[in-house]
Amino acid sequence: MDHQQPLRKISEVGEFSLIEELTRPFQSKHSELVVGIGDDAAGICLDDELVQVISTDFLVEGVHFDPMYMPLKHLGYKAVSVNVSDICAMNATANFITVSIAVSSKYSVEALEELYAGIHAACEKFSISLVGGDTTAAPFGLTISITILGKVEKTKITKRSGAKNFDLLVVSGDLGGAYMGLQVLEREKEVFKANPKIQPELEGFDYIIQRQLKPEARKDIITILNQLGVVPTSMIDVSDGLASEILHLCKASQVGCHLYGEKIPMDTQTIQTALDFDLDPATVSLNGGEDYELLFTIDQKDVGNIQSNPHFAIIGHITDANDGIYHIDKQGTAVALKAQGWKHFN
Ligand code: ADP
Ligand code: MG
Repeated sequence: MDHQQPLRKISEVGEFSLIEELTRPFQSKHSELVVGIGDDAAGICLDDELVQVISTDFLVEGVHFDPMYMPLKHLGYKAVSVNVSDICAMNATANFITVSIAVSSKYSVEALEELYAGIHAACEKFSISLVGGDTTAAPFGLTISITILGKVEKTKITKRSGAKNFDLLVVSGDLGGAYMGLQVLEREKEVFKANPKIQPELEGFDYIIQRQLKPEARKDIITILNQLGVVPTSMIDVSDGLASEILHLCKASQVGCHLYGEKIPMDTQTIQTALDFDLDPATVSLNGGEDYELLFTIDQKDVGNIQSNPHFAIIGHITDANDGIYHIDKQGTAVALKAQGWKHFN
């Protein structure tokens, strides 16, 4: 460390540059490594046919969840689901997890049993075996860290870096719902804090609240792609927001992109809630995080299979890197795409 220079704040560097800077000195020492740092999961060749994928994610109280409106059973489910999502983003199938918890004394045994009931439900849903973990005391709150393993055929592994000029940009499901669910939960929390006698007004928001509290990793999409015989040229899961993920994909693939804003799929409940909150639905669809849908690119030859499937929306196309990355709005105005994403460091 050079103490002549003023010390930098993490927020000044930003999460992604920080990871790049910290990991720059590390080089792979193993030829079996086929995907390293910088993708949704790492990939390690097991033999000539199979690749083992591995990923890890934290959920931290006060950063990723608020115990005031996040039931612990849902939290356990979500912790597994967000990890499965990263394995899906490699076009792989998750099979094993380890779960580590750092827990303060404010949590009872019964509370942790609830958490594990959610973890169990997700393991059943996604066909995953829990094979280990670690348990420790913590001075505050609750932190959950899950490491997940999965596997995929070598010929089908899908990285962030494979998109090429003229490919089509596709997203599964609909976007912005989880973010609007969070806005509703935050609003009701404030109302409750002001007057605990008032019951939360959650009726009519069931879909978006479920998107926030109980996200479903799109394992079904991996099965559908497999049945259609489509191997995406690149893929990433939408955890931080569409704009942010498109930028990651384009950077990793060294390509540009045209995204057509009006093609981004949104549920009517998401749109209506955004309008009620005086938010622009287009902005919500671009920057709202935690939908855990899959964003991928396909070769033009596969368009027939994807176009006719109700799970998918074609939202843009890949261009040459020199053309840049643009969002084209309803009026046809092209604006350079920027990511707001989540800002955890202040
Ligand atoms: P995702 O949103 O898909 O979980 P992240 O944005 O968390 O991915 O991480 C991007 C990449 O950086 C991943 O390949 C991840 O393994 C790697 N990474 C993140 N944090 C670290 C770290 N502290 N040390 C090494 N690699 C890291
Ligand atoms: Mg991811």
